[in-house]
Amino acid sequence: MISKSLENILSSIPSQVQLVAVSKFHPVPAIREAYDAGQRVFGESRPQELSAKVNELPSDIKWHFIGHLQTNKLKLVLPYVYMVESIDSLHLLEAVNKWGVNEGKTIKVLLELHIASEETKQGFNEDEILSILHNVDSYPAVELCGLMGMATNTSDESVIRQDFARISQFMSKIRSNHDAPDSFRELSIGMSGDYLIALEYGATIVRVGTAIFGAREY
Ligand SMILES: *Cc1c(COP(=O)(O)O)cnc(C)c1O
Repeated sequence: MISKSLENILSSIPSQVQLVAVSKFHPVPAIREAYDAGQRVFGESRPQELSAKVNELPSDIKWHFIGHLQTNKLKLVLPYVYMVESIDSLHLLEAVNKWGVNEGKTIKVLLELHIASEETKQGFNEDEILSILHNVDSYPAVELCGLMGMATNTSDESVIRQDFARISQFMSKIRSNHDAPDSFRELSIGMSGDYLIALEYGATIVRVGTAIFGAREY
């Protein structure tokens, strides 16, 4: 049924939008089923779990790291991922850059903007992101690829729309003011419950777990 769900979701999003299949908490056989159906981009949120899965799955998978990342876990994550979507502090950005400098690698990242009304969700505010973008030269081993955001966890669609509108307008402002490098193009918003809404606000990446793999057992 994973392949059927994938097919349904892919048919509802434009082909230029990247679907990240969020496989956190789901076992390797479930991921393999999605892989066999053609999916190559997966999202994980826990370092240990990611590095264990990487070893058991084909090497042409592009892994996106989407969870909170502690700087003492970088070596479990950075050697394996295509992109870190969840850069949520200056401390983390600096540590990722330092790792890249030492390893001679460039790491693609998204900056996480705090858009939800919940206090618990991580992320930068807009001024902090602008200040990072004005100091790109300080991060030579990081490729700043865009913004990530998580809407408020609510069934009130108007709140979700407000959150997405905010990040979408901020992205447009950055791009029209030429505040960012050319690579700064991605807008990663939208999860199982709200990815169709996210598309209306210019999502270039959607991160969908439950709607593909079913409910997670924590
Ligand atoms: C778990 C997670 C998702 C996927 O959530 P679903 O509701 O299962 O689609 C997307 N983004 C982030 C950052 C997540 O942690």
